[in-house]
Amino acid sequence: MANPKNKHADNLPGAFYCTDPDDDSGEGCIACNVCYSGAPDFFAEDDMGNAFIKKQPVTKEEIDLCIEQMDACPVNSIGKDG
Ligand code: SF4
Repeated sequence: MANPKNKHADNLPGAFYCTDPDDDSGEGCIACNVCYSGAPDFFAEDDMGNAFIKKQPVTKEEIDLCIEQMDACPVNSIGKDG
């Protein structure tokens, strides 16, 4: 699972987060572009192509879309608190 102690610095605060690429557990973002292609309203890429949350989902539809990205992330670097 995504390491909540190694969140990307640019995540907008809230339940969803992406983890930093240098996560010691080896589950950090690998810049595969799945999430920010699949849900560009909520995920963005930094200068290195690593993902962060730019907008937290609010509605059930938005949350479901972000959960889809969480499930699709190949390295479990998207997490959700709570
Ligand atoms: S799907 Fe995962 S590995 Fe791919 S860009 Fe998003 S957070 Fe990074």
